[in-house]
Amino acid sequence: LQERGGNNSFTHEALTLKYKLDNQFELVFVVGFQKILTLTYVDKLIDDVHKEFRDKYRNEFQQKGTLGLLNGTFDFKDDFLRLLRDAEESSKVRAPTVMKTFEQSLKSQKTVKCMIETRGEKPKEKVKNKKSKGSKKEGTEAVAAPGKAPAGDKQSPAAGDREELTKDEILQKNREEFFRRHMKAGEKSSKSPKPEAQKEKGKKPRVWDLGNSNAKVLDYSNSATNGSAEACPVEEFDPDIALGDRNREPGRLYDLEYESDDEAEEEKVIPNPSKPSAKKGGLGGMFGMLKGLVGSKSLTRADMDPVLEKMKDHLIAKNVAAEIAVQLCESVAKKLEGKVMGTFTTVTSTVKQALQEALVQILQPQRRVDVLRDVMDAQRHRRPYVVTFCGVNGVGKSTNLAKISFWLIENGFSVLIAACDTFRAGAVEQLRTHTRRLNALHPPESHGGRTMVQLYEKGYGKDAAGIAMEAISYGRWGKRQRGDAGCGGTSCLRVVSSARNQGFDVVLVDTAGRMQDNAPLMTALAKLIAVNAPDLVLFVGEALVGNEAVDQLVKFNKALADHSMAQTPRLIDGIVLTKFDTIDDKVGAAISMTYITSKPIVFVGTGQTYCDLRSLNAKAVVAALMKA
Ligand code: GDP
Repeated sequence: LQERGGNNSFTHEALTLKYKLDNQFELVFVVGFQKILTLTYVDKLIDDVHKEFRDKYRNEFQQKGTLGLLNGTFDFKDDFLRLLRDAEESSKVRAPTVMKTFEQSLKSQKTVKCMIETRGEKPKEKVKNKKSKGSKKEGTEAVAAPGKAPAGDKQSPAAGDREELTKDEILQKNREEFFRRHMKAGEKSSKSPKPEAQKEKGKKPRVWDLGNSNAKVLDYSNSATNGSAEACPVEEFDPDIALGDRNREPGRLYDLEYESDDEAEEEKVIPNPSKPSAKKGGLGGMFGMLKGLVGSKSLTRADMDPVLEKMKDHLIAKNVAAEIAVQLCESVAKKLEGKVMGTFTTVTSTVKQALQEALVQILQPQRRVDVLRDVMDAQRHRRPYVVTFCGVNGVGKSTNLAKISFWLIENGFSVLIAACDTFRAGAVEQLRTHTRRLNALHPPESHGGRTMVQLYEKGYGKDAAGIAMEAISYGRWGKRQRGDAGCGGTSCLRVVSSARNQGFDVVLVDTAGRMQDNAPLMTALAKLIAVNAPDLVLFVGEALVGNEAVDQLVKFNKALADHSMAQTPRLIDGIVLTKFDTIDDKVGAAISMTYITSKPIVFVGTGQTYCDLRSLNAKAVVAALMKA
């Protein structure tokens, strides 16, 4: 199921399975049904069962932990049958709805103009538009009554109640929230003194041709647009929806910004214990009840336990893998036990501060990866800097590879993309389209005649390690030596080189998505890495997942170690954390991934445009994590 990456349904022969994950309590709900049945109520059923089951056993989960319950029995059959009946009934009521004619539909009253989102549009309207767009997919009934679904139906979620929303709606909502914050932060920062770089003479505001954050410009999953020139969004560009990025400095990798609503309040917590009823927001609010002045007494485990317990739950709710949340709290407790507290310090604030420090430390691992510096270093040695991207399917490998290409090009480095996903249909076309678009944005004319990005591809079904090797040879500077031989003359030169003697500064190797448990594919990846010895191995993982991300990373690393033929196997060097824009403040995966590997998050993907790439700002992530 997980291999489907982001898709919550899976069809095998005559059966379809749909599932829902409750990360907080580590529950998975699966519905299986005959695929020929068009069951319109499955999403409702799975949502209802999830909610009722979770609420019924919430106390048990919280008190004993999920593991204790695994062997237990659940008295849920009657509830399930009732929910199934309700769901079936609800679908019957709606079944006979007749599809509206175009004239009857709201769409017929819309002008083309009003279908184009503009930045000034109220978020409320946006959500409504999105919803009716999404509901189209659900079938004719939804089209028939946009926005009029009965109360309690998942089509009409109560505002703010995320439990009622479908996954797509949650993603959309979170993205809007993310960009709202981002823009707010952008506006705010424009009031503060401008960053040095912006003061530079001659810098002009840049128009980001692909800065349309809401358009699915980099999404080629739709076969209709896959690889086709018509999909190129340049002509659809609307500067008003350009993410507030028009004043961006080209080539600069901006830090992840995160608005912490309660930063100011948080600071007051320590010096101001006379206000035990903490203000709304922040862990201060959450643990307000637990606060108590300790005076100059030394901290005991018993003092801290209730606070730690709450913190653990809080971290888990923010998507930190449960096991890691426990370990983190444990290490904080160990660090603080016996510590003498200042007179004006509370247990909560002390524990919270220690946790915050620990989190920042986790996110700033010892070895930093400075890609630009390393590329320049490779350049001095007249060789390309090689990066390999790996991860499971659908996490955003190709998309973020393209964003990184864009960033590198903006920094004046030329890029050769090696299409080593020789497995997934459309993977090569997807990269070809990116290459074309990147070249359109950075034509040779604006780079002294130098082609800034090329694709090295050999189609499908071939050995990925071999293609990577050929690409690296092809990308070499100076005379083509081994590259000529490896390519077998001109047979592999589907790419047309205009700057062969210059080579490429960077080779980015895209690999096929694979599940961490798939031994043959993991062996192939280990081989690709061992044979080509890239400078950087990046694991691409979604911010959406909690425990799953940890499992993926651990197993990828282990597989690379196990299947490598080298004595000191090459492991993952860093992480690309994608879809950060879809998680609101549930940023726990960032902690889980770095904690488990001690590897840095080198890039953060924050959307589907070429500019949606950031570097990690540990403090911003921790602020989001601590936010109530
Ligand atoms: P791959 O199979 O790992 O190569 O994944 P793709 O690059 O094809 O991406 C899968 C989907 O995720 C596409 O629809 C992308 O547009 C989308 N995607 C990738 N990165 C991000 C991101 O940072 N934010 C959002 N919202 N979507 C992303």
